[in-house]
Amino acid sequence: MRALYWNGDDLSFESAYRRPVAGAQAALVRVHLAGVCSTDLQIFNGYMGFKGVPGHEFVGSVLEGPSEFVGKRVVGEINFGCGACDACRRDLRRHCPNRAVMGILNADGAFAEYVSVPAGNLHFVPDKISDEEAVFTEPLAAAFEILTQIQLDPGDEVLVLGDGKLGNLCAQALRLTGAKVTALGKHADKLALIKKAGVRTMQLKDWQPRLFDVVVEATGSASGLETALGAVRPRGTLILKSTIAGSHQASLATIVINEINVIGSRCGPFPDALAALEDRRVAVMPLIEKIYSLDDGMIAIGHAARPGARKILLRP
Ligand SMILES: [Zn+2]
Ligand SMILES: [Zn+2]
Repeated sequence: MRALYWNGDDLSFESAYRRPVAGAQAALVRVHLAGVCSTDLQIFNGYMGFKGVPGHEFVGSVLEGPSEFVGKRVVGEINFGCGACDACRRDLRRHCPNRAVMGILNADGAFAEYVSVPAGNLHFVPDKISDEEAVFTEPLAAAFEILTQIQLDPGDEVLVLGDGKLGNLCAQALRLTGAKVTALGKHADKLALIKKAGVRTMQLKDWQPRLFDVVVEATGSASGLETALGAVRPRGTLILKSTIAGSHQASLATIVINEINVIGSRCGPFPDALAALEDRRVAVMPLIEKIYSLDDGMIAIGHAARPGARKILLRP
């Protein structure tokens, strides 16, 4: 099959990569669309030391596997737990110490014609949701994860730092609670997209520091942390969403002095994301920059790495 392959140093387009087999309790999925995420670009900077087919945002249809899935359109959760350990038995598969993560850790991903996914990770895609929308389920679920971690009340002041794809989705998801969400970013055009979704926006150059109950750091860069820390009120909450290959350099004294709750936040609930897409409560189509054929995957990845690029999709 055709696939993009990362060997740890270089990315290449492979025309005859080994096609995965479904395996026990797994499904062979024909990929309809896959999304390029900042995490993929971090992988090409050495994040996680991954080797294999990248890609963890996808929508597809099941070719082989458990009969209830065959022929159905699906999206899939990316953490493949072992199913046997303490974490897995406590329904914390995402934190299984033996896990593989699609396209990130010990499992081939979706920048390919086919991908093998444990059947337990799959979710059916309602007919009302197009492929172009469904491919956003994984990053949108990551945004909804915040709402499983903290209670937001109408009127709470929330700052989302970062106007990229994840910042956009976080702002839209958090706004659904009735909280007063402000998005802060560098790019007027991207902030305009967020504003269209009903969120207050502000450009970093006009930023006058003030304090928020909750601050979400979703800049995707190490430098966002300091601004984020400076915007949390005493005893407020800082949510960290960026996964970066580099290391942060910030003094932790502010966290101690202001008694700030710091919460790391990663993958989230697919059903919440699918429901929001189905009910049109979140708009993802404006986030698409361009759809490339998988054959042009190398160009597509280059495009995705351009500063300011919105979502790049690959169609095998
Ligand atoms: Zn991602
Ligand atoms: Zn496990």
